[in-house]
Amino acid sequence: GPNLLIIGAGGVGDVVANKAVQFRDRFGTITWAARTADKLAKKAAAVNARYGAPEDSPFIAAEPVDARDTDAVAALIEKTGARIVLNVASPYCNVAISDACLQTGASYLDTALAEDEFTIDIPPNWYEHKEWPRRPEFKAKGVTALLGMGFDPGVVNIFCAWARKHHFDAIDSIDIIDVNAGNHGKYFATNFDPDVNLREVTEEVITWEDGEWKFIPHHSIWQDVTLPLVGEQRVYSMGHDEVQSLAVNFPDTPRISFWMGFGEHYMKVLEVLDTLGLTSSVPVEVDGQMVAPNRVVKALLPDPASLAENYTGKIVIGVDVSGRKDGQDKRVFIWSTLDHKENYEEVGAQSISYSTGVPVITAALLMADGTWDPKTMVNVEELDPDPFLALMPEVGCPWQADELPTDGSWPYADGAG
Ligand code: NDP
Repeated sequence: GPNLLIIGAGGVGDVVANKAVQFRDRFGTITWAARTADKLAKKAAAVNARYGAPEDSPFIAAEPVDARDTDAVAALIEKTGARIVLNVASPYCNVAISDACLQTGASYLDTALAEDEFTIDIPPNWYEHKEWPRRPEFKAKGVTALLGMGFDPGVVNIFCAWARKHHFDAIDSIDIIDVNAGNHGKYFATNFDPDVNLREVTEEVITWEDGEWKFIPHHSIWQDVTLPLVGEQRVYSMGHDEVQSLAVNFPDTPRISFWMGFGEHYMKVLEVLDTLGLTSSVPVEVDGQMVAPNRVVKALLPDPASLAENYTGKIVIGVDVSGRKDGQDKRVFIWSTLDHKENYEEVGAQSISYSTGVPVITAALLMADGTWDPKTMVNVEELDPDPFLALMPEVGCPWQADELPTDGSWPYADGAG
């Protein structure tokens, strides 16, 4: 199979590296890159040891790189002969890594929208602004780029494509629901990069309603849902990458919303941080130096990867799709669940990271055998969902679809499967 280059060795990178090694017979060489050399070397050694790699021919090799440096990434792609590059580093690296792929012709995948480190004004459709203008170049050179291929964005987009392909003539609404009902035992922590996470939960919510972008204050709209396995949960309307691409790729669907579950305690702490200005990425002067407050918070919060060890409970992420089929109203909930402790025991990561890493390798396997090779830049809902959803359980994430009552009620008994 083709040589693989994984960039990023945080919580998600850990899972991607483990899964790549588990499926190493379908790839050529596997290289793992991140910024900090000694940390990366330790991680790679641990993965090699976990799967019993011989000392003289490791299953995964470590190569430090600055992923914001296009030339350095391109040089690493050339050196390793990588044909598939999996970007699970910070979204600040997306542009440099994808440019390096464009230069070298390697296929590219990422799991989050590109971001600028200190932007405050994000236009409603950041894909249109930031990513899609580069599509013609990928198309002209025939280079594959899969944008947003984690769980959300990622699998939820594929669930929508699958719903459209198999269940509906017309889709009226899509509600993406993301609940982490787990407990990490810390006073306050974010499940992935605090920079990105704190921005995501405190920025104005951009949502798609009546076929246009609406702006609402964060956490101002919520609902209670009763989900399988985790029971009743309060979820809040939030802006999220996938709404932006789905709004364009599902042009006949007037309402697309993203909802995330937050506990009361998390909300309280967040409100204090936000009110004090500590979630802001706009630098302030401290003792003559300019410092972004969110960077200070990040430095103080637990490393997301370190939460895994004591995490218990489950996550449930799904899409609640309503519309019509053969003239009848129809509603389908398509969802996955993972268990923090089980995931930790397998690969040493919590379920948020696991749910992101499994889809990355599922997609990489489809890229490796040519099933998914659009030779241009796409969001994943533009691809055939069937081969992906057939393969994902084998890689580690089960999923299922339930037909639900069209009155919007939830038939799952509280806490039952
Ligand atoms: P972490 O912050 O834990 O890890 C980020 C990794 O990227 C680190 O290994 C870091 O290197 C590396 N990195 C950052 N900057 C550079 C650089 N300039 N050069 C080289 N390496 C760099 O993040 P996560 O693992 O939690 O998340 C990874 C990505 O996945 C993020 O983009 C996040 O937004 C996305 N994500 C997507 C989800 C989805 O469902 N779609 C869900 C969760 C996350 P070092 O270790 O050396 O500092």
